[in-house]
Amino acid sequence: MPDFDLLVVGGGPGGYVAAIRAAQRGLRVGLVEKERPGGVCLNWGCIPTKAMLRSAEIFQTITAAADFGVYADNVRYDFAVVRQRKDGIVKELTDGVASLLAANDVTVIEGHARFTSPTSVEVFEAGHSPIFPGGPRYAAAPTATATRTVTANDVIIATGSVPAQLPIPGADLPGVVTSDGAFGLIGVPDRLVVIGGSAVGAEWASLFATFGSQVTIVEMQDTLVPLEDADVGSALGRSFTKRGITVLTSSTVEAIARTDALRVTVGGKHARQLDADVVLVGVGRRPNTAELGLEIAGIEADVRGFIPVDEQLRTSVEHVYAIGDVTGRALLAHVASHQGLTAADVIAGHPAHIDYTAIPAATFTHPEIASVGLTEAKARAAGHDLITARFPFAALGRAKTFGETEGFVKIIAGQRYREVLGVHIIGSSASDLITEGALAIALEATLDELADTIHAHPTLGEIGMEAAFAGLGLPVHIPPRKR
Ligand code: FAD
Repeated sequence: MPDFDLLVVGGGPGGYVAAIRAAQRGLRVGLVEKERPGGVCLNWGCIPTKAMLRSAEIFQTITAAADFGVYADNVRYDFAVVRQRKDGIVKELTDGVASLLAANDVTVIEGHARFTSPTSVEVFEAGHSPIFPGGPRYAAAPTATATRTVTANDVIIATGSVPAQLPIPGADLPGVVTSDGAFGLIGVPDRLVVIGGSAVGAEWASLFATFGSQVTIVEMQDTLVPLEDADVGSALGRSFTKRGITVLTSSTVEAIARTDALRVTVGGKHARQLDADVVLVGVGRRPNTAELGLEIAGIEADVRGFIPVDEQLRTSVEHVYAIGDVTGRALLAHVASHQGLTAADVIAGHPAHIDYTAIPAATFTHPEIASVGLTEAKARAAGHDLITARFPFAALGRAKTFGETEGFVKIIAGQRYREVLGVHIIGSSASDLITEGALAIALEATLDELADTIHAHPTLGEIGMEAAFAGLGLPVHIPPRKR
């Protein structure tokens, strides 16, 4: 008899959630993890960045307190304490995941797993990286001999992703850091160049700019956050520029050299040379499949190494499933978790499949960004006749009381049925407000239904309803479009 009904490899938001669901469905579950549980999200991504961004937000709010009639003298921050607070939150949450796994009777096996067949892995002692002595994270190969072999009826691969190396000269110089490496910075750099203006790069840029770094952000595409609606990307660019961040879009970093500082050569529309104390590479992730033995189990990967799966998360090999970043579908924690829930249900014999229609995404810059569904460009490319509705935060009473009037909501709806196809928000609490948009798309709601839903006043949440009024040609708190 195999050791487990299900073995999960990797304990990030995909793997640990899958393990818990499978155990609750009555399966005997093992989970192999080579680091702390929680994966990138809890240790190197979502949570630590948001903890530090919250410190930055508090600093910014107190700095502007006089606008609210509140006076605080000598406002300053201590970056060491910012980092300590972040570490404390990460520890609490990762300990919490370990407790939840134990409470659900999931057997956690520490170590690096490598397939020996589709349904068995050998587990190596983790922690001996020849590349990154600080930990096993980038270990190209497990060093020790296998400590045990584990077998299961089914296996879920949930090994996530790691930063990709940027293929430009100087990318390996001291002072050039990935997002993971940025957590090792013990001080705020005077001059920071961020390569890549998507969510990860933009968040780091926002954080360090608030703490006083002179930040330049270089983005290859025409707008920041290029996966977002172009109006939102442009608005973020303008907002960053107003805050003193130098935004170089349609530009690429071609080389980095060591002079007195780091000399960064930028090509493209804003070609120039910049000096920096730290260069933060915020672009590129690669699947974390090093020494996983995919080839031994015969599991297919695409040219970039991501593992293709069907809507029930099955790989090319029977009894082997894959979830999360390693599938390359959408590199977001909540997508990993939902894929995990689906895979666990399927393995436990419950009918389930994943539906990617309504995936919200949030970027925790100042101002925040969040979206769900189609951008205007994608909706037009798909041949939809559209209604586009916008409503500004500046016209919302609650936003005024917060002193947070920057930004807008943009709703994309079909012309004929007025069904909501996309919601795009830049502004205060966008990451919370987007849930209404996700629900609207999941339930195939129309502008009429959004408009008819009574929203509490005064709240930021009213913005979706107000935008729907505008989309119906009946705006209440902004002037009507002239015919
Ligand atoms: P991971 O979280 O990568 O976990 C994989 C786990 O597998 C790791 O713990 C790893 O140690 C383990 N592992 C790998 N190989 C083996 C092996 N052979 N044997 C044993 N264990 C192994 N997403 C959001 O939704 N919201 C955010 O705000 C957000 N912010 C982010 C900020 C940053 C800076 C970064 C880098 C990412 C952010 N993300 C965010 C993305 C999010 O972190 C990932 O999408 C998510 O962690 C993916 O989950 P996963 O379970 O697929 O893999």
